[in-house]
Amino acid sequence: MSSDLYKGYRGPALEALKRFGVGVWYDVEIDSTRGTFQGIILPRSETADDEHIVLKLHNGYNVGLAVGTIEAVAEHGRREAHYKIPEKAFPFDPAKPNVKLLGTGGTIASRLDYRTGAVIPAFTPGELYGSVPELADICNLDTEKLYGVFSENMGPEQWRGTAEAIGREIAGGIDGIVIGHGTDTMHHTAAILSFMVQNSPVPIVMVGSQRSSDRPSSDAALNLIHATRTAAHSDFAEVMVCMFGPTSDQYGLLHRGTRVRKMHSSYRSTFRTIGDIPLAMVDRERFIPLRDDIKPRRRDRDVTVNTSFDDRVSIVYYYPNMKPDIIDSLIDNGYKGIVIAGTGLGHVNKPLYPSLKRARDEGIHVYMTVQTLWGYVQMYVYDTGRDMMDLGVIPGQNMLPEVAYVKLGWALGQTGDAEEVRRIMLTPIAGEITEREPHNGYLIYQGGIPEVEEFISRFKK
Ligand code: ASP
Repeated sequence: MSSDLYKGYRGPALEALKRFGVGVWYDVEIDSTRGTFQGIILPRSETADDEHIVLKLHNGYNVGLAVGTIEAVAEHGRREAHYKIPEKAFPFDPAKPNVKLLGTGGTIASRLDYRTGAVIPAFTPGELYGSVPELADICNLDTEKLYGVFSENMGPEQWRGTAEAIGREIAGGIDGIVIGHGTDTMHHTAAILSFMVQNSPVPIVMVGSQRSSDRPSSDAALNLIHATRTAAHSDFAEVMVCMFGPTSDQYGLLHRGTRVRKMHSSYRSTFRTIGDIPLAMVDRERFIPLRDDIKPRRRDRDVTVNTSFDDRVSIVYYYPNMKPDIIDSLIDNGYKGIVIAGTGLGHVNKPLYPSLKRARDEGIHVYMTVQTLWGYVQMYVYDTGRDMMDLGVIPGQNMLPEVAYVKLGWALGQTGDAEEVRRIMLTPIAGEITEREPHNGYLIYQGGIPEVEEFISRFKK
């Protein structure tokens, strides 16, 4: 028997496969003490433990079954999967706009190598064309892999590199830019790019996928189609996030980079505009603007790229009974900026006050935001808010906590002067502070209309 039959399996897991007479790519039904599981045995990562057999269930999820729990295995044949995406030459059409796809990683950029467990970026134009042929109807697409990381590993170095790459592409005459990114921190990157790259003449569209392309419910292809259409053909020259609007695949929503947030750990419609309404809807045929202040596309190349960033900034998410040592340790460790996500209108408990005073006395810039996400910091309503302002805590208006965090790092990268930092922080640059929040934005224009209507109709007679 070839070793391929047991790809990656060692020790007790290998023994179990041999004992039950099955191997990798066998379609099986496994009876275990945890229940019965039907699926295909996947190759095992060489770096993973030797006590589990991994099954791809028919619903697309992978499970690891501890060998000790397996009681019986019935086999229904062998179904080898080929995860190599065929490369096809991406056609060039001089009549079509030119779009650049910059890859940073995340699920959208990946296919799994089940042998090593590694995620391999599938990102050449040929590979993308091979997997999503419709892209060639939209534009001429060129790709560049900037990074290959899951998005929790994005940080100032990658933000800077991405902003610089955008600047280069714009100077080179590109018609639109798509940035492939993991969804988990896409809103942090969208926010910092909104500050680092200002006055772009072309669309800068961030896109990701919640479900990888080897799963039947993947949103990767449609998100990519929507994002590429937006980059190539829309009139929207802003940093945007383009992801599923509703939970189904009816349309995508374009969200302003400073007002968007990932709000669900697994739904495909996870990105929501917070404190405002999204920029527009996009589907395979149309763009439907939802507001009238979207910055239009221009022919010039007058973009400003400013990649300053001081990473000695932090977010402190306040919780009841927080102790002052949390603030003290930031001061002791040389942090220069702190964004607090406070309760309600922007509160923390009294025991923190002496440490906040110490922060002010040591020249640390402290800004308040709200955990509620929707709404404004209001530090004039209660005495405690006024007390905190006396301690130097500055209300961050309706900036989202993550947005205030990246903006503070960007501001401190440019100056240490408290007044100048304050001016930068409180001057809206890309919609991160708005004069008012729409009364209806909380409920509608969130891709939720069909779902909300459907839900309510169940109770209407
Ligand atoms: N953990 C992944 C990431 O953010 C999830 C995704 O790509 O959607 O990189």
